[in-house]
Amino acid sequence: MEKLKPCPFCGGKAVFRTKSNNSSHHSVGFTFEVECEDCGMKLPSNFVMDISLTEDGEINVLNDLRPQAIRTWNTRV
Ligand SMILES: [Zn+2]
Repeated sequence: MEKLKPCPFCGGKAVFRTKSNNSSHHSVGFTFEVECEDCGMKLPSNFVMDISLTEDGEINVLNDLRPQAIRTWNTRV
């Protein structure tokens, strides 16, 4: 997976921040955003990721918008 590039405005460190927990009995999920640790600039939309445990004991990824969040952040000017 690509890494978040530094903030396009101040060069600060960009981080994933969880906003809420979407867990249910069968799955665990987060709504998250990407923001700059230094100036607080953030993407206008939120993203989600959800996983569940399969009967075989594997992690099943239901939703994973991390790559999209990274792409959106890295192409921002
Ligand atoms: Zn910044």
